[in-house]
Amino acid sequence: MEGQLFVICGPSGAGKTSIIKEVLKSVDNVVFSVSCTTRPKRPHEEDGKDYFFITEEEFLNRVEKGEFLEWARVHGYLYGTLRSFVEKHLEEGKDVILDIDVQGALSVKKSYPKAVFIYVAPPSYSDLKERILKRGTEKEADILVRLENAKWELMFMDEFDYLVINKVLSDAVRRVVSILIAERARVSRNSEKIERFKMEVKGWRKL
Ligand code: 5GP
Repeated sequence: MEGQLFVICGPSGAGKTSIIKEVLKSVDNVVFSVSCTTRPKRPHEEDGKDYFFITEEEFLNRVEKGEFLEWARVHGYLYGTLRSFVEKHLEEGKDVILDIDVQGALSVKKSYPKAVFIYVAPPSYSDLKERILKRGTEKEADILVRLENAKWELMFMDEFDYLVINKVLSDAVRRVVSILIAERARVSRNSEKIERFKMEVKGWRKL
């Protein structure tokens, strides 16, 4: 059975990355899709683990080769999801989590309509502002861009399947884990198991 694609989206500072890190610790058979980006690496980030940090030239080269399942310019930098990584893991039956922006999510909705779309939102816009300022990972100009873009991104919640408001991290993590588990329990995702049951019962009838 093919794995399930989960798209986690929401404005910068909503806490997607922290939520995903915790979810990966408590759910097995799920992998995080490491994107490529032209954004400069933050001090605590690791190349190949958080992102593949590449130049704009290399990024555009890869776009031409069709290596991205989706890509977008976000807050002035390029970000893209590697098609090969996602397809390989889905084929192996693993669930894959994408942490992407609204443009990317809308594009995946067209190419993978069966994906599950989760929107992570802050309790309010002023909370988001406070978080981005406190985080201190961006320069002032970048912070302003992110806050401006968040206004637009927050208008797209109703395009998604699930909404998770991240007020308390542990709570938000629990909700996302519940979504993953519930989606795995869907009858439509368990046709092989159902077939096996039917075959077994048929065998018993003959005895
Ligand atoms: P950050 O620079 O804070 O890590 O990410 C900025 C934004 O880019 C976030 O909203 C994040 O979800 C989004 N992003 C990260 N990787 C990708 C990607 O591969 N594609 C798209 N479209 N957005 C991405």
